[in-house]
Amino acid sequence: MRRPGSRRPIVAGVPPCADLLRAGAIGLVIALTGCAALPGAVQAPPASATATSGAPATSVAPTPSPSASVRPDSPVKPERPVKPTDRRSSAQRNRAFTVDGIPVISKQHPINAGYRRSSVTAPYGRTRQAQAALGRMIAAARAKGVRLRVRSGYRSYAEQAQILRVKIRQYGSESLARRYNAAPGRSEHHTGLAVDLWDGVTWGVGVRNTRAGRWLWANAWRCGFILRYPAGKERITGYAFEPWHYRYVGTGTAKAFGPTTTRTLEEYLGLA
Ligand SMILES: [Zn+2]
Repeated sequence: MRRPGSRRPIVAGVPPCADLLRAGAIGLVIALTGCAALPGAVQAPPASATATSGAPATSVAPTPSPSASVRPDSPVKPERPVKPTDRRSSAQRNRAFTVDGIPVISKQHPINAGYRRSSVTAPYGRTRQAQAALGRMIAAARAKGVRLRVRSGYRSYAEQAQILRVKIRQYGSESLARRYNAAPGRSEHHTGLAVDLWDGVTWGVGVRNTRAGRWLWANAWRCGFILRYPAGKERITGYAFEPWHYRYVGTGTAKAFGPTTTRTLEEYLGLA
């Protein structure tokens, strides 16, 4: 006799993505809502999830900050006494700026053309853990009747440069193109941890109101992904609202974000 959900503990009261999938697949309406509010210890992020997934050995923070002592598994992340500082020289930007094992590539923390990662999957270029989590998330959504399609994933430095050139031509405005499209070295897609998702029909900010967009905003965190560029946070993230862009951070870290939040990774890491 096997009771669904009883085979392994639900860590920290959060049904992991696989549980969510199983529950959906067998038609059980488990109490997904409210799970995040359950008290209890926070699951330590697959420490290697963030450290090795997107950040191979080469992207270890070159400048550990005092905040590095903050354990990512703390139930409540304390305020950082000191803002983590990116002290990489331009030559050292062949590694990602990393805080608590979480690589950050952005306009403020770019990488250079020498950036290389080791933990990637073929043919998509995503990290193995991000790829596995994405597969679980797509299946979990499907179990709820929501179709998720991948529009874009890993991009190399050269690919991003080409994309920006095309977009500037399309928009007819470099500044407008740069609101939505990163310059090479400044795209999170370089990490192999970011993915653009949609339903295969509606693209643009309208993704927010599609079933896919709504499901992702409410549930992606359960699978270790966060909405990376929320509405109203352009000043912090450097990018306009992108309801399609999700970033893998691991389930432990994503739990600190929870559903339907506009919290940013910069705020979580004390960078904002
Ligand atoms: Zn994206």
